[in-house]
Amino acid sequence: MVHRIFLLGPQGCGKGTQAAILSERLKIPQFSMGQLLRDAAVGTDNLAERIRVIQSKGELVPGNIVAEVLRARLHMPDCANGYILDGFPRNQDQYDSYAEHDKPTAVIVIEVPREVSIERIAHRSRTEHRTDDTPDAIRRRLEIYDQDTEPMINHYRSQGLVREVDGVGIVEEVADRIYGVCTAQGGC
Ligand code: AMP
Repeated sequence: MVHRIFLLGPQGCGKGTQAAILSERLKIPQFSMGQLLRDAAVGTDNLAERIRVIQSKGELVPGNIVAEVLRARLHMPDCANGYILDGFPRNQDQYDSYAEHDKPTAVIVIEVPREVSIERIAHRSRTEHRTDDTPDAIRRRLEIYDQDTEPMINHYRSQGLVREVDGVGIVEEVADRIYGVCTAQGGC
């Protein structure tokens, strides 16, 4: 079975960590839209500079850039048997652009209370020094999640694709929950 798994959840829910674990278990590649864009933002050309400025503010990178970066990654041969994508789609425009070609096989939503989310991002900003983990950018990213991304989860929910997973607990516990929903009937 070809998996096209989307992993969504508020910033700090553990998407990146969980995507990496699930990728090993299912033996399919995983990538995050945020990381693909950070990779595209390396360099001195105008596009790279534009992406860097937008990411540092916590705003969404324009849809045409996202679509192009994602298209290039999905065309790589390792995606032929499926993939796990985290951080996409974040709004209607991205939802529509993906829906034109394909449909995810499952959308895993990692749920954590807002205070856990904020605490984890604060911890990450002390250890990883991501330039977009400033208080203003974090607030903005969470606001975008509530306003623009949540409604996309509702679209997928109405299609029976959403698998909600409790993201509170240690990494291994959450990983086992995710693997559990993926291997259950109706899975991923
Ligand atoms: P993340 O690593 O998922 O927290 O994303 C970091 C930043 O990358 C976001 O704040 C956006 O600036 C950008 N980004 C990530 N995913 C998307 C997306 N699907 N659409 C537009 N911008 C994105």
